[in-house]
Amino acid sequence: MAEQINAFHMAQQQFDHVADMLNLDPQVREMLRWPMREFKFMIPVRMDDGSRRVFFGYRIQHNDARGPAKGGIRFHPAETIDTVRALGMWMTWKCAVANIPLGGSKGGVAIDPSTLSVHEKEQLCRGWVDQMWRNIGPRQDVPAPDVGTTPQMMGWMMDEYSKLVGQYTPGVITGKPLGGGGSEGRTEATGYGVIYHVREAMKHLNMEPTKSWAAIQGFGNVAQYAAIGFIEILGGKVACVSYWDRKDRTSYTVSHKDGIDPHFLQSITDQYGAIDKDKARAAGYKIESGEAWISKDVDVLIPAALEGQVNAETVQKISGRVKILAEGANGPTTPEADEVLKARGIFDIPDFLCNSGGVTTSYFESVQNDMNFYWTKEEVLTKLDEKMTGAFHAVLNMSEKEGVYMRDAAYMVAIGRVVKAMELRGWL
Ligand code: NAD
Repeated sequence: MAEQINAFHMAQQQFDHVADMLNLDPQVREMLRWPMREFKFMIPVRMDDGSRRVFFGYRIQHNDARGPAKGGIRFHPAETIDTVRALGMWMTWKCAVANIPLGGSKGGVAIDPSTLSVHEKEQLCRGWVDQMWRNIGPRQDVPAPDVGTTPQMMGWMMDEYSKLVGQYTPGVITGKPLGGGGSEGRTEATGYGVIYHVREAMKHLNMEPTKSWAAIQGFGNVAQYAAIGFIEILGGKVACVSYWDRKDRTSYTVSHKDGIDPHFLQSITDQYGAIDKDKARAAGYKIESGEAWISKDVDVLIPAALEGQVNAETVQKISGRVKILAEGANGPTTPEADEVLKARGIFDIPDFLCNSGGVTTSYFESVQNDMNFYWTKEEVLTKLDEKMTGAFHAVLNMSEKEGVYMRDAAYMVAIGRVVKAMELRGWL
């Protein structure tokens, strides 16, 4: 995607579209179309063979009017300043729509981490913090894991920061392991958050959750807990999930006529979200092509794998029974497919609203770090439900009041909140 479409131009276009709808002042637009601060820096790392290799790191702080900036750090070979700018801008809107008092940021290093030894990865993480520590912190900017970064890496980064500032500061970074400053409920948070949104959408559409079926794409962190939540929170059934098979270099849909058992499938799934299809088949599951999930005769579709999966071609395969598309993944729906969804009256829960349970629980993590007092899983999930339910209804109200599509309404709520904070602070 990064090679074909410039992600930052896309993020600016989306913003411009809603800025037009809101009739935003040109000066305000200019302040929001660009990041407030950008850092690009060199991270020299002593490699295991004794040589020194230079990496380039980025941190983009798009906007911090509503509170400290928040956003992950990506280690990916295709990382560029523009992908990081786009992701930082999207974080501003995601935190604002979830109504958590944080701004938006993102960081990265152009590297495939699987090519580094454990020691080299640790040096890279510590080197990133050595360059950025004056400009991150619990009151400034709080990083987190993203593609290619792990809870262990967050632990190294937190340790490096704590050494540099001279005091233990777990709240500088989230996504830490449990027992190392992490929060209960973070594993479930994004998938369950998707389900809290689906529950509210079903109430709005007068659907009966216990009679509903869902089809889910993916079986990683988000999809697994979306599947468990759909069954255990809503009382519905899940027809299928899907996954990418590295060995066969293709994707498969794994379905069951009576509905899948996500706990059983978890027991035969590896850490990358790949299911052992032979064991699934032996247990009575049907293995179909990777695209089969989207044409299932279900009430709810939950893409929770990759971007661009609901596109001009696949959108045509969606069954007439589908009433809700809940975007667990980031950017799963292309603009062409969006037009078809609108025309067919399928209720869309847009990605940065639908999957905001993850960042909301990261926010809870840093709050608990600041207090040095930790909540139970039940307390975390109850607070998450309140936040997600509130966010959903704010967007639904905007959609009904202005007569606009849910995606546009979510942008309108988010941008409106950021602009209000900028006004209150006297920036405008
Ligand atoms: P993950 O790596 O844990 O899982 C990804 C899943 O997708 C795996 O099961 C993989 O096999 C499957 N997959 C990959 N390619 C596929 C293909 N072509 N067809 C079918 N399945 C395929 O990732 P995740 O954390 O669950 O994230 C999934 C999506 O949700 C991403 O878009 C991510 O950016 C977004 N997201 C995640 C979180 C979070 O907290 N984890 C928060 C917000 C958004």
